[in-house]
Amino acid sequence: MDQNIDRREFIQSASLATLGAAVSFPTFSIGKTADDSKPALLGGSKAHPGPFAAWPIADNTEKTAILQTLDSKNWGRLGGNSVVDKFEQEYSKLFGAKHALGVSSGTSALQTMLGALDIGPGDEVIIPVYTFIATYNVVTLNYALPILVDTDPESFQIDPSKITPAITKQTKLIMPVHIGGSPADLDTIIPMAEKAGIPVIEDACQAHLAEWKGKKVGNLGLGGAFSFQATKNLNSGEGGAIITNNEKFAQTCYDFHNQGQGEKSTGFLPGSSGTRGTNLRLTEFQGNLLRAQMSRVVEQTETRWKNAAYLTSLLNEIKGITPAKLYKGVTKSAFHLYMFRYNKEGFAGLSREKFLKALDAEGVPCAVGYGQMNKNSYVTGLASNRHYLKVYGEKTMKDWLERNQCPQNDYLTNNESVWFFQNMLLGTKKDMEQIAYAIKRIQKYAPQLAKA
Ligand SMILES: *Cc1c(COP(=O)(O)O)cnc(C)c1O
Repeated sequence: MDQNIDRREFIQSASLATLGAAVSFPTFSIGKTADDSKPALLGGSKAHPGPFAAWPIADNTEKTAILQTLDSKNWGRLGGNSVVDKFEQEYSKLFGAKHALGVSSGTSALQTMLGALDIGPGDEVIIPVYTFIATYNVVTLNYALPILVDTDPESFQIDPSKITPAITKQTKLIMPVHIGGSPADLDTIIPMAEKAGIPVIEDACQAHLAEWKGKKVGNLGLGGAFSFQATKNLNSGEGGAIITNNEKFAQTCYDFHNQGQGEKSTGFLPGSSGTRGTNLRLTEFQGNLLRAQMSRVVEQTETRWKNAAYLTSLLNEIKGITPAKLYKGVTKSAFHLYMFRYNKEGFAGLSREKFLKALDAEGVPCAVGYGQMNKNSYVTGLASNRHYLKVYGEKTMKDWLERNQCPQNDYLTNNESVWFFQNMLLGTKKDMEQIAYAIKRIQKYAPQLAKA
């Protein structure tokens, strides 16, 4: 937890914790900049002069954890008396899941579950187009066909109305992503998948501790994947975890991540579940570092949630800025990203590119975010991959390019999407006010900025 955070501020803002609460735009003074309304790009001082919270946050707790493992001389989980075991117990408890498995990355978590489900050549897997490339990569690593589904531009999540039309006889898995740490529309997706008899794996790599109707995400599908890569909300440099409430699936995942060998195996015995496998194990260093970082994650998640709610209440007052919608079932977002839409009509036609440049100059880091994965040559190139041509044939691969058209995502990512980052939400209410103030100032001077 950032030491600078004033708890009282949060108690005072508790009534704002409901997104969309009607509040008037606050009056606030931010030192010298209060009377100086010119945007930084036009010579004013920065609306957000200080740095945002540094990431990662660590102190002696982490140092002790790393040294403990070093001194223990037990650096891998198979050595017995494993802290990865302890980590898994604590992680499953924190997430309200029966089983947790530590793995070497978020990608490994997905890869393990696809392996446990025996997804392979000829199978189709439904994923959102608006996601990190790892979601796509784990499908193609198994020579299965990724079917990219369009984005709900209001939420930035997979458009649930486009899932059923994407299902065919070959569909073996639906893999929604809780993008930005905000849950996808699970009340629509889960029953839809159940009706079709297709399992759901939640890519919750950005969504530690996010909740759907009070339940932690990752618990609603057959399994959930989490990432501990350095930028993620829970961090061990690299690392990942699976949660599941299905004992048989948990065992198969364990075996897959351990060279196909069962938990009690000494190395060369066949695994109890008979799955294929590889080595995707988490190290003891990572396990113990994660245990230390986990002592912070609940409070950090609360801080982001409250700050995001406050920021949303401020941005809702600005014409042309539309924060990403949270579905009704969302009782907590992890806010790995704070996503919103920019409509230049509210800013005298100022292009998104110039808006971002002006915002960055105010000391407010921002980005366009993901683009059109379906149009990237890395993805379209799959249609001419020799293995895919062998398994699926030329016509299927040509049709596949057509099936992947995502016009809503095209518009969102070409014109409107903007991101802030999770560490920006670890600060104070004042940080949120300064972000909103920066945007208001840009809006006021939009005609001048357009010409600059
Ligand atoms: C980060 C991420 C992954 C992959 O996690 P790694 O730990 O980097 O392998 C997968 N899916 C999503 C949506 C992610 O954000």
